[in-house]
Order: sequence, then structure tokens, then C-alpha cells
Amino acid sequence: MDIVMLGPPGSGKGTQGNLLAEQLGGRPLSTGDLFREILQDESHPLYPKVQVVKEGKLVSDDIVNLVVEDGIQKPEYRDGVIFDGYPRTIGQAEALDRMLSGMGRQVDLVIDLNVSREVLFYRMLGRQVCPKCKQVFHRDQGLKNCPDCKEALVYRSDDNEETIVKRLHEYEVSTLPLQHYYRSSRPVYVTLTIDDASLSAMDVNGQILEKLKEKGMLQEIK
Ligand code: AMP
Repeated sequence: MDIVMLGPPGSGKGTQGNLLAEQLGGRPLSTGDLFREILQDESHPLYPKVQVVKEGKLVSDDIVNLVVEDGIQKPEYRDGVIFDGYPRTIGQAEALDRMLSGMGRQVDLVIDLNVSREVLFYRMLGRQVCPKCKQVFHRDQGLKNCPDCKEALVYRSDDNEETIVKRLHEYEVSTLPLQHYYRSSRPVYVTLTIDDASLSAMDVNGQILEKLKEKGMLQEIK
């Protein structure tokens, strides 16, 4: 199954995508993670092209599409991809449709995480990430190291107030039209509204599974 996780930055696409990968199968692919890796390597041919990430701007469609097309050919994505942060524009969505159809596949499910601005700011301003396994935590949990990998948790450089405002604006202008794009086409579309910062990742995951069950996409919740 190929799944698109839709939602603004900080909405939990990565966290929920990882949980769904365990529950439904498929492998998460985060374009944001791919670009952050490229930014660590000055000799990478795409290094100059992805500098815009630091300013909260979108990387150009042709570069993103190239990176994704290259990525999903890998054997680990053969049984399905959970796209986290891609597509982000109509052009990318059309490119994804073409790529998948060339592989005899299609976007089967879209999960739209509709999270209030207050919750997004709370989450992103306190977001800590494990550099190894990419699990996300919040400063309020009081952790210094990843409980699984033991690596020191880090803050993302683009999780500052100024860049968050730009990223949310970019989301509204470029990515929100994807709601209409997918609602008016074939994939099963599941929306969740989240305006409570105390809701845990497992609570949200439970709500997603319930909705999938209602839509007949899950015979039984594991
Ligand atoms: P994320 O980790 O998904 O919040 O992405 C971090 C940053 O990477 C974004 O603010 C963009 O600059 C860039 N990025 C990630 N995915 C895309 C995409 N599909 N299209 C354009 N830029 C992207």
C-alpha cells in the first residue's frame, strides 16, 4: 500500500507514519530527512540546491521529484511507501502519480493531519529528535538522550519561530491545495482534527486506526 501523510510541519506525519508502517506494512520515506542528510555533506551534488531548507522555503519540484524517484526504486520500498512530507505541491503530486503508475502502483490512502496552529508551535518549538533513529520527543518530556539509541537528542535548526512562520505560510500556499487534489480523486482520504497538545502519539494513532476501520481498510485493529 502507498500512503501519503498530509499535514503542516509539526503535525506528526513522521511519528504517525512510523507507527502505521509497523501496523500496515510499507516503509516511511521522509524528504525532509533526506534533505537534512544532504545538508551534512558539502560534497553532495545537490548540496547547493537544498540550502533553501534553512530558510523554510521549499526545494524545487524537479529536485524533490528526482530524489523521490531515485529513492522509491530501492528494494526496501517494493511493498509500499509511506510518504512523509511529499508531495508538497500539485506538481509533486502529479509527478508521484506518474512514478507510481509506472510501477503499476497508485496512492491508496491519504492521511490528513489537521493540527491547530497553537499545537504546531508548541510541538515544533519544543521538538527534539534522535539523530540516529529519528524518533521525535518534546522538551517537556525532560529527556536528554533517546531511550532506545541512547544518542543525545537534538533540536532542528529550522524549528525556530521565524522559520516556522515561513514554513506554515508555505504550507498554506503550496500544500493545502493537495487536500482538494486528493479528495477529488481516487485514494481513500482520512482526516483528523487535532487541537489538544496533550494528545499522545498513541492517541492519534488509535484515532487513525478507528477511521481506517470505519472505511473498511482494516478488518481488525491490531
Ligand atoms: P520536513 O522535515 O518535512 O518538515 O521538511 C524540512 C524542509 O525540507 C522543508 O521545510 C523544506 O524546505 C524541505 N522539504 C521537505 N520535503 C519537501 C518537498 N516535498 N518539497 C519541497 N521541499 C521539501
